[in-house]
Amino acid sequence: MRYLDFHTHTWPQETIETDAIVSCVAPEPVCEYKDGVFLSYGIHPWYIQGNDPKKLLEHVREAAHYNWVVAIGEAGLDKLKGPPMDVQRRLFCWQIEISEAVKKPLIIHSVRANNEVLMLRKSMNPAQAWVIHGFNGHPQEMEQLIKAGFYLSFGPKILYPSNKATESFQQVPEDRFLLETDHTNKSIVALYDKAADIRGGSVDELGENVRRNAVKLIPGLKRG
Ligand SMILES: [Zn+2]
Repeated sequence: MRYLDFHTHTWPQETIETDAIVSCVAPEPVCEYKDGVFLSYGIHPWYIQGNDPKKLLEHVREAAHYNWVVAIGEAGLDKLKGPPMDVQRRLFCWQIEISEAVKKPLIIHSVRANNEVLMLRKSMNPAQAWVIHGFNGHPQEMEQLIKAGFYLSFGPKILYPSNKATESFQQVPEDRFLLETDHTNKSIVALYDKAADIRGGSVDELGENVRRNAVKLIPGLKRG
């Protein structure tokens, strides 16, 4: 089985058989493709300030056309960090339009803003899948998002006992979740082991499940 890290900021370790989607933040250049290392490219709300928003957007437009840039983002809304919400909202909406235009899913950074992101999806009715990365909400919130068509990517929070992320992960429908290490130094192997344990199945079954979900969003991720 080959692991799949749906969202990370570090290059995967060569000793682990893994595919990864590395989050590339504008205005960083798009790096060369390497086997198994895909990219998402977007304007992260934390790194808007000090940059010309229109120039950042140009970077996203250009990056979006590379084959190995398989998703747009992380883009989104953060109520605790970054520029005022109207600025964040404008840049997020621009990136939603790019995701629709190039037909690539959107990876979403949402801090205390899930409700607003949910409203946006309902009002904009996009054709592309939206994945909330690092989901850490209560099962009730998870259900609302699932009902609205979202995918949820779970991170290292599930490694710790009894928290709302773990509770939600236990209940999330099998066709809607992904796993990610994000900006932590946790290993994707440990995450798969724990995830299988929480959901009650083998690591191989879990691996197939994750791969199936990811391929549905990004057909280029198809392999064993
Ligand atoms: Zn991230």
